[in-house]
Amino acid sequence: MAPSSRRRGRPRRRLVAVAAAGVLAVATACSGSSDLTSSDESGEQGPTTGPMAGPNGGQPPAKIDLSEAESQPVDDPYYPQNGEPYLDTLHYNLDLDWNPATKLLQGTDEIRFRVTEPRNQIQLDFGAPLSITGATLDGKQTKTAERGEQLVVTTPGLKPGGDHTLVLRYRGTPHPVKAAGSRTDLLNVGWTTESDGSVWTMQEPWGAYTWYPVNDHPSDKAFYDATISTSGGMIGIFNGDEVSHKTEGDTTTTVWHVQAPAASYLTTIAIGDYQETTDEGPNGLPISYWVQPQDDNALDWLKESPQMLSWLEATLGDYPFDRIGAVVVPSNSAMETQTLVTMGSGVFHADEVDLRGALLHEYAHQWYGDVVTPDNWTDLWLNESFAMYIQLLWSDSVGLLDYDSTIANWESLDGQLRSQFGPPGEYFPDEFASSNVYLSGAVMLDRIRQEIGDDAFFDALRTWPTVHEYGNANRDDYISWLSDRTGTDLGPLINEWLTSPTTPS
Ligand SMILES: [Zn+2]
Repeated sequence: MAPSSRRRGRPRRRLVAVAAAGVLAVATACSGSSDLTSSDESGEQGPTTGPMAGPNGGQPPAKIDLSEAESQPVDDPYYPQNGEPYLDTLHYNLDLDWNPATKLLQGTDEIRFRVTEPRNQIQLDFGAPLSITGATLDGKQTKTAERGEQLVVTTPGLKPGGDHTLVLRYRGTPHPVKAAGSRTDLLNVGWTTESDGSVWTMQEPWGAYTWYPVNDHPSDKAFYDATISTSGGMIGIFNGDEVSHKTEGDTTTTVWHVQAPAASYLTTIAIGDYQETTDEGPNGLPISYWVQPQDDNALDWLKESPQMLSWLEATLGDYPFDRIGAVVVPSNSAMETQTLVTMGSGVFHADEVDLRGALLHEYAHQWYGDVVTPDNWTDLWLNESFAMYIQLLWSDSVGLLDYDSTIANWESLDGQLRSQFGPPGEYFPDEFASSNVYLSGAVMLDRIRQEIGDDAFFDALRTWPTVHEYGNANRDDYISWLSDRTGTDLGPLINEWLTSPTTPS
């Protein structure tokens, strides 16, 4: 997520206003069933058939090795209400039908998953306004119960080993839910419907569950395919490759495939009067900009993307996915959704430092957050400190900001940020994604750079995204890897910076 900005409405507390005015000029916000294989062939079920069959019938199947999506989910220390640690989802095949006139969503969510312990029931996160209309497990009908924002599915005698197929049909009018922080650019998260029936999402640290049943936790990555049907001249946009696009009568259907496992908070959907503009990044990387007519001004800025991506590749190593792009939505925030960043249209009305910085920031997250994702929300700093620091390096390189004076500025605010929002690695739980995880963490990276020198620092910056590629990591993983790589025990420095209530000396 892009850092919050002074331009994004009035902060709730006076201290925030001081910090924002002083610091945050830096940036703006922040299917037919696929042909699936599994490394473990012991799964006893075949594809479901009949009316509960998976969506996307007739589309070219995508070959996926489900074992690449095997995760080690954990119970979140900050937000344990979302996600289940015994549940490892491998693939979501979504078939969504959205009626912009009636604001009714009808969906089928075909989930391939495994369990890590014997289970007679499993639990998914699922928006309270939505209702299940049918469920099968491995081709047989099964029972479900909706309890608030939890969906309990009966799974008699489920054992670890092998994978299973749960097909859930559901319907309802999705609503966003309250966010975990105080940022005024992000008071609500999840599926958001505009008055004309167009749709967009921002959903960190949760919110995917407002529109599909999901194990909504970053430690559980999965593959995605999605089919979106809608009407009234609108089309649906999703992460990944657009496999097909057709209009029959008033209905337009698009089919999407995500080639690498993604965390649920990194999925995005937008439905509206979108038009695609294509571009090309380094080494022929396909780029798509999806913009509605009222946001055409964004295209002028988005066209800097190839240069930004070239700079990022030079600094961070090869881009880790098969494509990139941006979808512009009616928001004031921005999100690093995987292979298709979600940019609030308000960002494109910010000043140039914030605007260009925010776009660079979300692209930087593809290396820091998307290809390697924190396995718990305590370690949000693993995303934001790095993205903020990389944003500063780039802003300095193009003459938008001066590195030394900006770090000094952030350092001067560190004590205040800690007292207001908590230390960056132990932030107050109701201050998710406040300035401390961005700025204090970025100053920590500058301290690490001073400690180990530029050569070791930039070597580490390029290498870390490949260490847990397409997987997850946490603070301990980073400290032990960085200390090994540099021959310097960086545990004391990093732990103190992440947890001290006052600025470390
Ligand atoms: Zn960010």
